[in-house]
Amino acid sequence: MPLTRRDFIARTAAAAATLSLTERLHAMRLATTVLPVGTAGAARIVSSTNGLRGVARAWEMLQRGDDTLDAIIAGVNIQELDPDDDSVGLGGLPNADGIVQLDASCMHGPTRRAGAVGCIEDIATPSLVAKAIMDYTDHIMLAGHDAKTFALEMGFTAQNLLTDRSRQNWLRWRARLNPGDFRLDYDDDVAIRFTHGTINMNAVNTAGDMSSVTTTSGMAYKVPGRVGDSPIIGAGQYCDQTVGAAGSTGRGEANIKACGGFLTVEFMRQGMAPEQAALKTLERVVAMTEARQMNDKGRPRFDLNIYTLAKDGRYGSASLYEGGTFAVADDKGARVETAAFLFKRAEFPTGPVPVQRARAR
Ligand code: ASP
Repeated sequence: MPLTRRDFIARTAAAAATLSLTERLHAMRLATTVLPVGTAGAARIVSSTNGLRGVARAWEMLQRGDDTLDAIIAGVNIQELDPDDDSVGLGGLPNADGIVQLDASCMHGPTRRAGAVGCIEDIATPSLVAKAIMDYTDHIMLAGHDAKTFALEMGFTAQNLLTDRSRQNWLRWRARLNPGDFRLDYDDDVAIRFTHGTINMNAVNTAGDMSSVTTTSGMAYKVPGRVGDSPIIGAGQYCDQTVGAAGSTGRGEANIKACGGFLTVEFMRQGMAPEQAALKTLERVVAMTEARQMNDKGRPRFDLNIYTLAKDGRYGSASLYEGGTFAVADDKGARVETAAFLFKRAEFPTGPVPVQRARAR
């Protein structure tokens, strides 16, 4: 026989009366972890500054009604396929052996799915490989040689991603490594290019559907096989469309330890505005930084940038150091805005980096 409302209340009260104090406290704690749900607002795309052309393309696609993840992946593909952008895809600066190894990940809010690829070679658009892993496997991340095999099976085309320009940068870097070795230094003072790149892009539409993607060639001249923060769900990017999305560029090793993408979304869940959440995450990054990466005034020897977007369309970005910017597209057009920061640019540690010894942590 179905319960009347009165019976239900009476039985619930009777059950509650039988709970011990500990059980009641536990139930209260559970009640406070119920996740708040944001409401949909303005549509918007937010990305790292190198995604300026990309946010414009993604915005056009959102206006046509395309899916948020399809839109931002089309946006980051512009940089991945641009041989002049040496921080992602084709033309990305290589590892210490002169091989371009790429990382990417994505999350699709409406379906709560994620895909990631680490250390993939010869495929210019790892963001699309990450999405293919999400769409066509029951896994989240593939890495290395087998990730490339998967991509080839899915119809991606292999190509040499090292451009003449990135090869020259790598050769100079290698020649200057050790004055006493057998490779002669170039007869010029051309500065060696180290990238600080990567694209993170996040989208929300007017229905409140959200997605995020991050793609990179990682740190220039990294130890072969190194995987950064970009393909790590919760570090390089994160999206929970009940709340928002966030991602990062900059020193991946610092971001991984703070789970920067996830932490920023969690700070927003607690009620912080996007920019405030990004700053709070950067404070955590600093707190987690090892001594050898800090100067004696407690300032990190690297930069890190967080980009963030709430379900209701509020957005922001913060960098460790003054001078950061980010790209936005919405009904006011595509533009670059200034990021918040923790430290003045003048506080960035200058001078020679102290010799880093394995034991001096
Ligand atoms: N976050 C990237 C990585 O550590 C690099 C960068 O954004 O500069 O792989």
